[in-house]
Amino acid sequence: MSSTEFTEINSLSLSQEQLQRVVVLTGAGISAESGVPTFRGETGLWRQFRPEDLATPEAFADQPVVVWEWYLHRRNLIAQVLPNPGHHALVELERMLGDSFTLVTQNVDGLHRRAGSQNPIELHGNIFVNRCGRCQDHWADDALDFSKLPPHCPTCAGEVRPGVVWFGESLPAAAIDQAYSKSQRATLFISIGTSTVVHPAAGLPLLAMESGAYLIEINPEETPISRLSDCVIREKSATTLPLLVKKLQSLKNGN
Ligand code: NAD
Ligand code: ZN
Repeated sequence: MSSTEFTEINSLSLSQEQLQRVVVLTGAGISAESGVPTFRGETGLWRQFRPEDLATPEAFADQPVVVWEWYLHRRNLIAQVLPNPGHHALVELERMLGDSFTLVTQNVDGLHRRAGSQNPIELHGNIFVNRCGRCQDHWADDALDFSKLPPHCPTCAGEVRPGVVWFGESLPAAAIDQAYSKSQRATLFISIGTSTVVHPAAGLPLLAMESGAYLIEINPEETPISRLSDCVIREKSATTLPLLVKKLQSLKNGN
């Protein structure tokens, strides 16, 4: 890490009040160093497809086999990787802050839970969930026949789809309501590895900021919220987050 970013963290000064309600929003960037490609990164492509052209209800209606093959490929990739020090640092932060901490993620990879985060709000669902597109029932993998794609629902024979939110679909109401209300009351908001262009999640840091929260961004690239942030750390999250959490811990302890 460069000395500039280290200075950013070292010189961070927050009051006890600002540590009262902490909301963390994560995007694909936090899992990049685990080996899960972001959608907009260089390795985001699969075959010749752009993710934006596959992660839609229209794509699933037109070519359910291709969409399922892509999801099975991603599941397989995710199953082989591990949470990284960035995910683990957020588990530490949750232990330290208890009820004062909320984790909201746009990721579908389940790596926060695998690291030990207790209750992440998964705005975009989870890639390992199977859901019937007709009756909405959820099914474990071994209840379905994947030998002929798409798998079909054992009760209603509808097509089963991955339990994620696709572009153009609404977010699960309970998850987004909770994320909004926590962000609105946040005293500190940390945005990590998200391009903040996919709404409505991208609105969360703005909501927090309007309510007076201190805003920290960790992202090697500039994003639309960079210029609004109080502290921008232009670094990768796996190297930076453990240092930031250590700093928050010492601020919490009054040092
Ligand atoms: P995105 O692909 O649009 O953006 C990723 C962001 O992470 C970029 O701003 C990039 O600069 C940043 N980044 C890259 N490497 C980083 C690192 N090492 N540390 C910190 N930041 C880093 O992803 P998004 O904004 O999350 O939105 C796309 C949607 O795609 C999400 O809603 C999500 O559902 C889905 N998605 C999920 C996963 C996953 O679950 N791991 C992966 C790809 C896409
Ligand atoms: Zn069904």
